[in-house]
Parts: sequence; C-alpha cells; structure tokens
Amino acid sequence: MTTLITNIGSLLTNDPELGTLTDAAIVLDGDTVAWVGSAASAPDADERVDAEGRAVIPGFVDSHSHLVFAGDRTAEFNARMSGQSYTAGGIRTTVAATRAASDEQLDANVRRYFGEMLRQGTTTVEVKSGYGLTVEDEARALRIAGAHTRETTYLGAHVVAPEFAEDPAGYVELVTGEMLDACAPYARYVDVFCERGAFDGDQARAILTAGAARGLTPRVHANQLTQGPGVQLAVELGAASADHCTHLSDEDVKALADAHATTVATLLPGAEFSTRAVYPDARRLIDAGATVALSTDCNPGSSFTSSMPFCIAVAVRDMGMTPDEAVVAATLGGARALRRTDVGHLAPGARADLALLDAPSHVHLAYRPGVPLVSAVWQGGARAC
Ligand SMILES: [Zn+2]
Repeated sequence: MTTLITNIGSLLTNDPELGTLTDAAIVLDGDTVAWVGSAASAPDADERVDAEGRAVIPGFVDSHSHLVFAGDRTAEFNARMSGQSYTAGGIRTTVAATRAASDEQLDANVRRYFGEMLRQGTTTVEVKSGYGLTVEDEARALRIAGAHTRETTYLGAHVVAPEFAEDPAGYVELVTGEMLDACAPYARYVDVFCERGAFDGDQARAILTAGAARGLTPRVHANQLTQGPGVQLAVELGAASADHCTHLSDEDVKALADAHATTVATLLPGAEFSTRAVYPDARRLIDAGATVALSTDCNPGSSFTSSMPFCIAVAVRDMGMTPDEAVVAATLGGARALRRTDVGHLAPGARADLALLDAPSHVHLAYRPGVPLVSAVWQGGARAC
C-alpha cells in the first residue's frame, strides 16, 4: 500500500541534502518513506492525499516523559500558582497513588496520554518509570510502558523511596541490585535524578554504571534546580542525553558542546513554565555547538503538558531559539536523544511518521501558540488521526 501526499506547501525534511522543500510531495510505502521531491515529478501511488498547500513536518519525537502514574496534583499546582511555596514530597503523592492503582488503570492512563500526544503530532514517545520505587512497582511500570513504546527508561532513582528515608544508601543498593535485575529486561535506558534532595554525584554514578553494565544506555536528569554534577557525569559516561540543563556553568556548556555527537542537551520548558522557574538558555548551548532536543517532560507534578507545539512556542519566545531550531529540536533532536536514525527526519528509508499542519509553514507552530494546528498524522505509514 503506497500513499502519495502532494501539493505540500512546505515540507520540512530535516535532511541535510533535501532541506525544506516547497511545492513538494512525499510517497509512503508501508511503514517507510519511499520518495521525496517536487510535486510536479511525484510518482503515482495507491492513495492520493492533497495537502492543499499546507505544511508537513516529521512527527515529533518526545524523548522525555513520565506517563505511568495515577492520581492528580491539581491542588499542589493551584497552591503554587496562588503564591504558596513549593513543598517537596510531591513525587511521593504520585508514588502512593500509582502503587494503589491497578495495571488496567495505569495502562488506560498511558493510552490516554499517548492519544493526546498523537493528536498533537507526536509519533515517538519515551516513557520512564519512577513512581513505583519498589522492585515490583518499577518493573510493572516498565512492562506497562513497554506495551506502548520501545523507548522505556528505568528511573528507580527518581527519589529515595519513602521506606528508605533514613537509609538512602540502602535504597541505592536496591536500585543497583534487585530492582535493576527486575527492570533491565523491560528497559532500554537507565536514568537518575541527580539533584540536591534526590541523588548526589556519587550515587548517580553508581546507579548509571550499574545500569550500563546491564546493557542500558544512561541518561540523566541534570542541572534542573542547581549547578550540580549531572551534566559532567552524563558526558563522562557517554549518556544519550542530559535532561533539563537549566543551571549550567561555562564548563558544563563546553562539555555538552564537545560531546555534541554523543550526549544531547534535552530542554524541558514545560517544567519551568509550570513551576514559574527561569528557562534554560538554549541560545547559549546552540551557539557553543551542543546538540539540543526539546521534550515535554509530561508528568502530573511539574510539567503536565503533552504538547510539543507548546514547548516549541515557549522555546522560541523565551529560550532564544529560532522557529527552525525549535522544530528541529522537537523532531531530529529528540531522535538523536534516543539514538534513533529512522525517525525525526523525512527522507527515503526513514520511518513514515509525519504530521500535516493546518498552516503554510512549520514556523506557525511558534507564531500561533496554543492553536491546534496538527490536522492529520501518519504513524508508520498509517493514518493515525
Ligand atoms: Zn523528568
């Protein structure tokens, strides 16, 4: 089954040779892109879709989310936005609700947010565990996530489990031992929240090294709230990404620039938006030569958005990114953060994941914030919405 989408006003390919094409067409064959070029010379296909001059982009690659959870933190958000100070322990509220939920409830939640993401143009999603914090509950979270995506991340080291409040070393032992054994079969990556109040540099190193020894690729929640050791650790261990990167020293920026082919700086503006914090400086990272990705960090506590277009709009408005840079970071950048070469771009051989926008160009994603511009999505060559 082949599909020709033609009369595309602007086709963002993210391919160094093809660039952004006008008056373009694309042919999908099964789950793969078969042909890209000018509409005038497009080959025939079984099915023909007229884009009527609108823009087509690669499907968004959301490389950082926490979707296996139950419950809700509306009251905490409301209090924070009403001027009350942010109190720690929020993650533990979600941990209690998640542990109490059935597999069916958690699965239904993941399905719901995947649906939201798809309708907003996201075709690849990474999902972390981290709201179970017991051997059984972390493995369960990864099993449930794995039914929806191959991009699963073991985040037993989200915070110290409440049962180990007086014995954090004991919890690190669990995370690097029995819990890792139970989770490794269901995960591609290992992650740690390296931050004051969560895990320090030594603990994070032990957790990431143990995960890597089991074949998991490291990624790190790094430098979100303070200038901690997370970024340097991510680069040193060859992590796929250092996520947040909000508080960076010059040395951190240089390390990420030097590691641009290995470790992606993943920026998560939904977190700063939802906690009224200062945004990361994308301009500084890009000018230094770092590879940057944008992602939602979708979670019920600090960033309850599933919208990549929202993140793009904020990144352009407040983080110094151009519209082109932000859309590339939300597609190709996310793919690089997941070490995927088949998604995030549209060229022959790439996976047929793409979004048709109700706009003449991808710049409108930032120019028209909050407007639902995604009008159709193909995932693996099939019309998904
Ligand atoms: Zn996160």
